[in-house]
Amino acid sequence: MTATILNGKKLAQAIREKLKLEISKQNITPQLAVVIIGNDAASSIYVHSKEKACLEVGIKATTYHLETTITTQDLINLITKLNNDTNVNGILVQLPLPAHLNTQEILSQIDPQKDVDGFTALNVGLTLQKHPQAFIPCTPKGILRLIKEVHSDLNGLNAVVVGRSQIVGIPTAHLLLNSNCTVTIAHSKTKDLANICQKADILIASVGKANFFSKEYIKEGATVIDVGINRTENGITGDVKYEEVIEKAGYITPVPGGVGPMTIAMLLENTYEAYLKQKQL
Ligand code: NDP
Repeated sequence: MTATILNGKKLAQAIREKLKLEISKQNITPQLAVVIIGNDAASSIYVHSKEKACLEVGIKATTYHLETTITTQDLINLITKLNNDTNVNGILVQLPLPAHLNTQEILSQIDPQKDVDGFTALNVGLTLQKHPQAFIPCTPKGILRLIKEVHSDLNGLNAVVVGRSQIVGIPTAHLLLNSNCTVTIAHSKTKDLANICQKADILIASVGKANFFSKEYIKEGATVIDVGINRTENGITGDVKYEEVIEKAGYITPVPGGVGPMTIAMLLENTYEAYLKQKQL
C-alpha cells in the first residue's frame, strides 16, 4: 500500500486563514514577544518564520535579540518586564538557550497566562488535567490536530511515542493518552524498539536522527508522524526513511511540510487564545 500524505502545510494554512479572519473581524492586534539569544542559524530561521507568520495573520511580533553573554538574571528581568506589560499577550523564549543559562529557571518566570509555548509547570499540569485554560505546547498540539484529521476516533488505538523530551515526546504522549489511545513511550534505553514500534497504529518519531525509522519499524497501514528536523548534506530530512515507509504506512507526514508548519500555526493560535483569555473575551 502507498500511504496518504498528511499535509501539514495545507492544514496549517487553513488554520492561519481562519485566525486571520477572526482577528480582523474583531479588529484586535494580539502581541507576541519573542526572545532569542545568540546567533544560532537554525534558531534565527525559526524566529524569522514565526515573525512572518504572525504578521500575516495580524499578530504583532516583537523580537528581543540578545547577546550570548546575557546573564540568567538579566534575562529574568526582561521576562518580568514583559510579564508586566499589558500590551504583550504571549512570551516565547526560543530554545535551546546557551549552556550557561538555566533554562528551567528562566522558563518558570514566564507568566503562565502568557506562556504560549506551554512550558511552565502550571501549563504542563493543566495539560495533563485536560484543563480548558491550559496552553498546550505547540508541536504536540499540532501533532494531535494532524492525527485527528484522519482519525476521528482514537479510542483504544496503540500509539508509540519514540522520544521523551519535555517539549515533544512527553506532552504528545499525554495528549494521546487523554484522547484514549493506549500509549507507549520509548527512548534511547528502550529494548527491542523495532518490535514495539511494529505494534503502533500511530507512531510518533521524535528522536532527532535522520532516517532512523526504516520499514521494519512500521506496522502495515500505520499513521506515521515524523517530527524530526535533521540537517544533512542532502538538506533537511526527518527521522523516518520516507521513501520506503510511504510504501507501508497508511498515512505519513512529510519533512518539510508536515509537523513544522503545524507548530507555527499552533503558536499563532495560542497567542490569539492568550489575548482572548487576558481580555476575558
Ligand atoms: P531531544 O534530543 O530532546 O530528545 C530526543 C529523544 O529521542 C530523547 O528522549 C532520546 O532518548 C530519544 N532517542 C535518542 N536516540 C534514540 C534511539 N536510538 N532510540 C530511541 N530513542 C532515542 O529532541 P526533541 O524532542 O527536542 O526533538 C526531536 C526531534 O524533533 C529533533 O529532530 C527536533 O529538531 C525536532 N523538532 C521538530 C519540531 C517541529 O516543529 N517539527 C519542534 C521540536 C523539535 P533519551 O531521553 O533516553 O535520551
